[in-house]
Parts: sequence; C-alpha cells; structure tokens
Amino acid sequence: MHDPVLIRASGLTRIYEDRNAVPVHALDGVDLDVASGEFLAVAGPSGSGKTTLLNLLSGLDRPTRGTVEIDGQDITRLSRAELAEFRLRNVGFVFQAYNLIPVLTAGENAEFTLLMQGVPAAERARRVLEELAELGIEPSLVDRRPSELSGGQQQRVAVARALVARPKLVLADEPTANLDSTTGARLLDKMREMNERTGVTFLFSTHDPMVMERARRLVTLRDGKVVEDVRRS
Ligand code: ADP
Ligand code: MG
Repeated sequence: MHDPVLIRASGLTRIYEDRNAVPVHALDGVDLDVASGEFLAVAGPSGSGKTTLLNLLSGLDRPTRGTVEIDGQDITRLSRAELAEFRLRNVGFVFQAYNLIPVLTAGENAEFTLLMQGVPAAERARRVLEELAELGIEPSLVDRRPSELSGGQQQRVAVARALVARPKLVLADEPTANLDSTTGARLLDKMREMNERTGVTFLFSTHDPMVMERARRLVTLRDGKVVEDVRRS
C-alpha cells in the first residue's frame, strides 16, 4: 500500500533581492513529494536553500512562484490568519537554536502549543509529562528554565513542544547544528523512534553526515535545486 502524499511542492521558487537589488535565486523550481510517515533529510552546503525550503513548506514564508500543498491544501493561497491556524493544527517546527521561551520552564515551553489550541489544563499537564518522558526528560528537569538545561536537553524539550500537539508534520531546520555529534545522533535516534512509533512525518535539514546517515530518504540541494534524491531501507 502506498502512503498518501502529505507534502507536494511544485515549481517552488523563492527569489530574494540582495542589498543592491540583485535577485538571489534561493530556491529554483523545486518539485518534491513527501509521503505521510517519511523520515526525510534535506542536505546541502550552507547557502543551498535548506532554510528557505523549510520556511516555505511551513508557511513561514511565501514563494515567489510555485505552490505548496499540505494534505491536499494549497497553503500559498491562505491568508495570514488562516496560515497561523493551519500551522497551529498541523505543523511542528524545531529550530536550530531551540527557540525556547527563556522565562518559561521546560514543562511550560512544551505546553505552549496545547495552550494555544485550547486543550484543557488537566489534559495539557498529562500530555506534556508523557511527551517529555518519551524524549528522556526526567520529571526533575520539568520545572527548570532553558538556561538550566544542556543544549541537548533544550532541543529535546523543543521536539516535545513540536510533538505534543500531535501535528501531521514536524519540520526541523538543522536541529543538531548546535549539539556535539553524540548528542545530535541521540536526538536523531529519538526522532526516528517517534516517527516509527506514531507515524508522524519528519522533514529536517542538515549538513551533518551523522544526521544524513539516519534519514530514510536524503534529498540534496545545491544552488536552490534538487540534485539528488535517494531512498534507503
Ligand atoms: P541554507 O539554509 O541552505 O544555508 P538559505 O535558504 O538560508 O540556505 O539561503 C539560500 C540563499 O538565499 C543564500 O544564497 C542566502 O544568502 C540567500 N538568502 C537567504 N535569506 C535571504 C534574505 N532574507 N535576503 C537575501 N538573500 C537571502
Ligand atoms: Mg539554513
């Protein structure tokens, strides 16, 4: 059986202008289909268009040309308010620099999306503790602020924050770039375990070979174009 298409990018193009109004083709006509349940890495050197692609797939940015369909819905046609609602319900985002809210505890950070979704307090508390435990964050760490956690722990909290809302899709932009390679590899193993257990689709960018080797599909970008697309078992 074929898994249904979750993401369909067609002719996706993003042209920025540099300071001298010279056009920069950050993404240049990318066609990409991602099935539900994939664990996919977008690789490529710095400047190849990875962040631009993830921002377009999440609706954080709009393409110059082309379309992005998520679950059959063309998100490039949504208004800002519709996009915000769409992201809240469907997409978890994990940033390179974790982007946890410094004044909130680990638990409160992980709870944030559920609060926005209007999930009742008792259910929020239960799901947050469950999700943090899944990611190896012990109860003793739940009340700590981000500054009292290691980088690896902070990124686990960020992944928990993305997953706890049960999105269809988690996008992660170089999630291990600020971690040492052992910690990064462990985080990837955790993400893959979650992918296999819950079927949530992961699409992450990287230029770390340790991360690439853990992907089940590796799409390589160069100068804003897909130059290679390899599947592995
Ligand atoms: P990567 O994430 O692979 O390092 P990016 O998507 O950040 O690549 O960038 C792709 C290209 O677009 C690079 O040449 C970069 O300099 C350029 N770029 C990215 N963002 C902007 C911007 N806001 N304005 C102008 N150029 C940009
Ligand atoms: Mg980038």
